[in-house]
Order: sequence, then structure tokens, then C-alpha cells
Amino acid sequence: MNLRAFLSTDSPGLPGLPVALGLWADEAPHPSPIHRIRLRQVAAMWPFAVGAQLLASVVVVCIAIALGERRLTTGAGIDAFLLAAMSLGIAITAGRGMAQRFAPHLRNRALLLLSIGVAVPLLSLLWIATAMPAGAMRLAGFIAVAGAMSITAAALHSVRPATLGLGLGLAAAVGIETAELLPTGVAILFVLCLVVSTVRMARLDAHGDRRRAEEIDEGRLASKMVAEFEGQGTGWFWEADRNGRITYLSAKVSRELVAHGCAPIGRLLTDLFRMDSATPGTERTLGFHISSRTSFSDYSVCAADDPAAERWWSISGRPVIDELGRFEGFIGSGTDLTERRRSEAEITRLALFDGLTGLANRQRMRLSLDKTLQHQAGPARPAALFLMDLDRFKAVNDTLGHQAGDALLKQVAQRIERSVGAAGLVGRIGGDEFQVLLPGTDSRETLSALARELIAALSQPYFIAGSSISIGCSVGIALSPQHGEQAEELIRNADLALYAAKGDGRGVHRFYSDEMLAGAQSRKQLEDDIRTALSEGAFHLVYQPVVSTADTRIVGYEALLRWDHPTRGAVSPAEFVPVAEECGLIEALGTWVMRTAAAEAGRWPDHIRVAVNVSPIQFANPTLPALVTSAIASAGLAPDRLELEITEGVFLDESYSSDQMFKALKTIGVRLALDDFGTGYSSLGYLRNAPFDKIKIDQSFVRGAAQPGNRNAAIIKAIVTLADTLGMETTAEGVEVQDEIDLVRSLGCSHIQGYVYGRGVRADEVMRQLSGARPVVASGHKVSRSPRTKMLRTARIAIGSYHGDVRIRDISATGAMIDGVVLGSDAIGADVRIELLEDRMFAARIAWARDGKVGLQFAERFNLDHLNQSLIARNSRRNG
Ligand code: C2E
Ligand code: MG
Ligand code: MG
Repeated sequence: MNLRAFLSTDSPGLPGLPVALGLWADEAPHPSPIHRIRLRQVAAMWPFAVGAQLLASVVVVCIAIALGERRLTTGAGIDAFLLAAMSLGIAITAGRGMAQRFAPHLRNRALLLLSIGVAVPLLSLLWIATAMPAGAMRLAGFIAVAGAMSITAAALHSVRPATLGLGLGLAAAVGIETAELLPTGVAILFVLCLVVSTVRMARLDAHGDRRRAEEIDEGRLASKMVAEFEGQGTGWFWEADRNGRITYLSAKVSRELVAHGCAPIGRLLTDLFRMDSATPGTERTLGFHISSRTSFSDYSVCAADDPAAERWWSISGRPVIDELGRFEGFIGSGTDLTERRRSEAEITRLALFDGLTGLANRQRMRLSLDKTLQHQAGPARPAALFLMDLDRFKAVNDTLGHQAGDALLKQVAQRIERSVGAAGLVGRIGGDEFQVLLPGTDSRETLSALARELIAALSQPYFIAGSSISIGCSVGIALSPQHGEQAEELIRNADLALYAAKGDGRGVHRFYSDEMLAGAQSRKQLEDDIRTALSEGAFHLVYQPVVSTADTRIVGYEALLRWDHPTRGAVSPAEFVPVAEECGLIEALGTWVMRTAAAEAGRWPDHIRVAVNVSPIQFANPTLPALVTSAIASAGLAPDRLELEITEGVFLDESYSSDQMFKALKTIGVRLALDDFGTGYSSLGYLRNAPFDKIKIDQSFVRGAAQPGNRNAAIIKAIVTLADTLGMETTAEGVEVQDEIDLVRSLGCSHIQGYVYGRGVRADEVMRQLSGARPVVASGHKVSRSPRTKMLRTARIAIGSYHGDVRIRDISATGAMIDGVVLGSDAIGADVRIELLEDRMFAARIAWARDGKVGLQFAERFNLDHLNQSLIARNSRRNG
């Protein structure tokens, strides 16, 4: 029979191993590989065991012959021989098995000798026992055999089936041979023990097999996952010896380092990687952790030999300590940070830079400003902050679309950067607002020159989408430390300076001055006061007559808002109307004016009109037609007796909605007058479509028109011609002297409005004026004197070493009245220089100073025409 087949668990019949294998089969219906291996071991051992038994038989026979032993011929002798031979074989096999199990390193020869050394005395004892008559000694002999077999079974538990087979055979043989109850019983008991222990062992084995299989599976899975992690993921592993020299590094990082000319294995970890000093919390270096044998985590490193620092990793590690507490080295892991750092850098870029223009954004500007101001430890290091606002940008956005607006902003950014160069940092902090931070300078001359250059550069035409676009720019400048040492303060002051620049006609730059802050505070106060006055009904209207040049009769009145402030006295609408516009109160104020004026005019004779000023903000409100309708309806006023005065400011927003508004108002039937003509929008194109009934020529053109050589008359003539052509009436505003009446009439104006025919009067006075139908009588100077122009404009002044800003209240060819600087009477006679025209200083002398006001006498006669021209240019910049 094929022994291997016989022992195979797949074999259907196993005569020698029925019990054990049956149970085994229960435990493991599909025997595990380890069982097969064991069975194979048994198969391999059987020839050896048989050989050993044969050898032992020969040895015993030889010894017996040599000793002249004749017992071999007897039945008992044969028993003894067989037993001895078998036992010797078992002992040798057991010895080998034991040796394999407990001392696998010993050589086979030594094992053999040892087995024999153990087996021979045992066998001798057994042999002697078999020669004895049946009895106690013989039983002892058999017990010795059983002991030998037990040892074998224990030693060879891995070959239990074989042992079991032997044990069974032997026990049966002994029982049959001796036919004695006791040895047979002992043998059976032994066999039972063997079976039980084998079954138990088999169970344990099967359990162990399963566990091992699971472990193997888990191990395989783990190594598969590690390989996957190393191969595909961003992670990797490293190991270093006691000295910090790399002993293992995942292949992908290894490759990276090799690409930078550095083979990692055997090199110090600290030589391979360098740390990112910018990462917070990495004050302790890698070297420190390696030498102090402490763990570290999430250090950002790049290859030490990679100057460009293209690839970044996060690295962690911990010391490895063996079971005896000895330090063995480091083990750790890492992850690729490159992408994360890139996206972080991108996020930072987006967070700090303006996406459209690529300039620094508000946050970045703020950080830089904070840094610049912080560095001013010790003697304060100067710095300047420009705040720039584009003029007419909104119109571009509205008329040409946002794409054109974006393209324009990009070009603006380039021009600013070109002008500023390396001197400062340029940022875009909002729609059309830009900021320039200039550290290290506070020279007004240098900064003025730069501001002028910026304004000039930005005012050059832009070519976008086939159109030529012109915009302007206003600049506010604050200096550190004079105007503030904190970012917040400096920004606020630059903003106030920008506000002043816009107020002074746009297209100019202004340095911050304390008056601006005071002005802002008083504006805020004014705002609160307007709110209170509105709720308390503290406003009233006065009506200024408009007189026909043809028959010198009053044809209408302009309603003008008046406010007697409880502490300030009479405040000019020129001062509080813009504030009301800014803070959103103009709607309520305008509504009150409209209703009051209409109601008042309702009591006047039917041919007398009333003119009401309408702010551009009201004009942009779609509810205006409803207000007008309701005002005239409740006053019982014919629509054509109401004239709405609109300034050119409404055309800043050349949009569909302003056309709609004109149409809606015309549908109601009210008249429309274009107020302050010539001071605002530079384009006349709007006159094509806007359905005006009247043009009001601004008083700046009337002023001085009667003076010989003055060009205003020519301008008035041109305006009148234009209005006539378009079928519109004309009113000359601000006529103060009688010779101007004749001039204006001769120039063709249809109406006159001015102090010459009276100032604004209360409603009851109007009723009195209208009671008689006589022509009105002109009053005031007969002949023009050196005309004074009332104005409110900021100008620089230099009085000795003092430099600051003042407001010009009025001006004539020979002098001006200013406020905003408090001087005593001792200042009278002092020489000053004042900026009468944009960036041009004129010499003057202080003529008088009282109540915060100062009178200046110019060193040379000042040509007011220049002022008018600059005023026109300024207003056109402001509005258009
Ligand atoms: P405006 O509509 O051009 O009004 C004419 C201004 O010129 C008035 O100033 C008037 O008093 C002044 N004026 C008239 N004749 C002469 C003259 O011969 N010489 C001089 N020097 N001035 C003369 P006022 O009342 O101070 O108003 C100033 C501006 O305030 C007005 O200019 C108008 O734009 C605005 N305003 C006045 N009332 C209202 C109102 O009810 N609503 C709105 N939105 N604005 C108003
Ligand atoms: Mg007006
Ligand atoms: Mg006017």
C-alpha cells in the first residue's frame, strides 16, 4: 500500500487512524495546509522508524547471541525481542522528534546519540522485565514501555496519527500476547488517554491553524495596504538607526531625493531634509529630536539638496525602544504636502490679492500698513497713504457694461503701478477705489508730484472694446506720523482728504488737515440736526422772483429752502442739501418742499409759476412722478405751472431710467428747467433728448459779464443761441447789478433771476408782491463793481512756516475772504501765499482778521476769468 496515500486525509479508509482522523475531520472538514504538512512529515518518518526498529532488532539479536542468550527461542523471548525492537525504534523516533522540537539547532547525529542514550537504559529495563515471570515486575516493565510511548506521544504530538497507530498496535499486541487482563486494561486506558489528548490537541491545532490563517490573511492585507499606501497615496514611511541614519525610506520619496542627487539610505535624516522655518511651532529642529530621542510630528520639510523647495512633506517620527528598553532607532511616516502647500499658497494669494487686477487687496494693504507703522520704533519713520477714487467710473460701468468696466480697472491698475514703481505698494480696496502705501517718505512736494502724475496718467483716454473712455481720479493723502500713527486713523484721514478732493471738484489731490476731521464731525452733527429739524418742521421756503426781460413782470418764483439753525443761525442750502443727499434725508426733505411749494403756488394767480429744485437723488427715484402728481393734484395746480429745476448731475447716470423719468414727467405736463447750466457736465449731447423748457445760465457766467473785456457775455450769447435753437427759454441767474439787466436782455435772455429784482421772500410777502400787476423795480448798484464771487473751496495756504488748508469764502480781483485758520490782529500785514488756482500759489497780505475769518489783499490783481475757467473745468470733472 502506498503509505502516503494511506496517511492522506483524503483517503477514504484509514484503518490505523479512524478515531483521530474522524475527529479531526469534524474539526476541520477541509484540513488546513499545516495538517497536510504534518501528515507528510509522518509519512517521511515512517521509513525511518521502521529502519530504526530493524536496526534495533539486529542490535538486540546480536547482543543476545553474544551473551549466549537462549531465551530468544522461547515465546517470551520473541515477545521481548519484538517489544524491545519496537520500543527502541519508538525511542529513537521520539528522541528525534523531541530534538527537533526543543533543540532544532542540534545536528542529527547528536540527536541520534541522545535518543540512544535515553533509549538504551529504558530498553534494558524493559528487556529484563520481559524475562520475568508474569507479575509485578513484568507489569512495571510494561509501564515503562507505556512511559516510553507517552514520551513519544508528547514529543511527537505533531505526528499524533503515527503515534496513535503505534500505540494501538502495541497495546493490542501486548494484550493478545500476554492474555493478561491488567496489561490489557492499562494499554486500553493508555490508548483512551491518547485518544482524548489527541482529540484535544487536534482541536487546539485546528484553532491555532485558523488563527494563524487569519493572521496570515491580516498580515497579507496589512502589507498590501501599506504597499498601496506607499504606492498610490501621499503617505510614506521611513526608518532610521540609532545614529539617525536612514535604513528604510519608501520608494517614491527615495526617488525624489535621488533626483536631487542624494541617495537616502545610510544618510543622516537631518542631512536629507531641511525644515520650513516659517511653520509655527517648529522651533525645535529635527536634529534636536534625533539627538534627544524624542518623538516629533507634522514638521514641514523639503529635500535639503533642493534649493527651489519644489516638494514639501510633513514628517513625523518616534523613537523605537526594544523590550529591554534599549533605543534602536527611529521609525516614522510622512505625507506629501506639496499640493496642500500649493493650494494654501493659492488661497493666501486669493485672500491677499485682488482677483481682477492682481493688485494687493484690502486685507493685504491693511497688513502692510500695520507692518509699516509697527516698524516705526524709535524715531518715527515717515510713510504716506494715498486713497484714490476714480471719477465717472460708474458711468462707464453703466453705459458700456461690466466687462468694459473690468477692462478699464485693469488698465487703471497698470497705470498706477507704472507711476508708483518700486516706491510703494498699490492695492485695490473696492470697486473703483485704490490705495498706495509709500513707506519712507512724507515730503509734500514729492507726494504732490506723484499725485499729479497719477491723476494725469489716469486721465489719459483708455481704448476699450473699440471705444475711447475718459475718466478722472481724486486723491486723498494722509501722512504718518503727522496725521496718525495707527493704521485705522491714517486710513480715515486719507479718506477725509479724498472726500475733500472730491468736494473741491475732483481730479485733484488733497492732503489731510485737521479741519477736514472737524468738517466731517460737523457734517455728522449737521446730519443729526437735519433729522431733528425735519421732524420738528424747522425748515421753511422762500420764493425768489423770476422776471421776464420783455416786460419786467414777475412770471414765477423759485422755491428755495431755508433753515434757521438753533445755534448756527441761517444755514445755506448749498451746505446742508449735499449732507441731506449723503445721508438719505433728501427724499423726505424734497417731498416736503414739493408739497409745500405746490400748495403755496396753488393760491397764486394762474399765470405765476413755481420752480422747485429737484436733487439728482430724487430724480433717480421712480416714485418722483407719483409725488409730483399728488402734489399738484392736492394743490389744484395746473401741471405747467410747476417747473422742476434739475442740474446736469442727473446726466451722470446716462441710463435708460433717466430717459424714462423725463418721459414720465413730461406726460404729467410739468415744465423742466436745466439749472446751473455750464458748470457741470461737459457734454451737450444730453440736450438732444432731454425735453427741457428752460435753461438757467449759472450766475458764474453772469457775474462780471458787464465788465469791459469780460468774455462771459460771449458765453451767455452762445448759450442763448443754443437754447433758442432748441426752443427753450433762458433765465440768467444771479443778476445783482442794474447794468447786467440791460446786458442780459441785449444778449437775448428771456428771464432774469437775481438780487437785482429781489431775494427770496416768505409766502405772505409773495402774495403782497403779486397783489399789484405792475412791473417790478430793479434795485441795487447801478454799475458793476469789482465783482465778488461767493465760493466754498479748500485751498492751501502758507503763512510763514505754517502750512495748512483754508476755505475761500469769496474772492474778487483784488482780494479774498477765507476761514479755517484762526489769526489774531497781530497777524495783520503778514505776507502769505495762497493756492488760488489748482497747485498755483499767489502772494497776498493779511488785511484783517476777526471771528475766525481773514481778509486777504492780493499782491497782484487776480484775473477772475482764470478762476471761472478752472471752476468750469473742475465742475465738469466733478459731474461728468
Ligand atoms: P439754485 O437752484 O441755483 O438757486 C439759486 C441760488 O442762487 C439761491 O441760493 C439763491 O439765493 C441764489 N441767488 C439768487 N439770486 C442771486 C444773486 O443775485 N446773487 C447771488 N450771489 N446769489 C443769488 P440758495 O438759496 O443759497 O440755494 C443754493 C442752492 O441750494 C440752490 O441753487 C439749489 O441748488 C439748492 N437748493 C435750494 N433749495 C433747494 C431745495 O428745496 N431742494 C434742493 N434739492 N436744492 C435746493
Ligand atoms: Mg435752482
Ligand atoms: Mg441755479
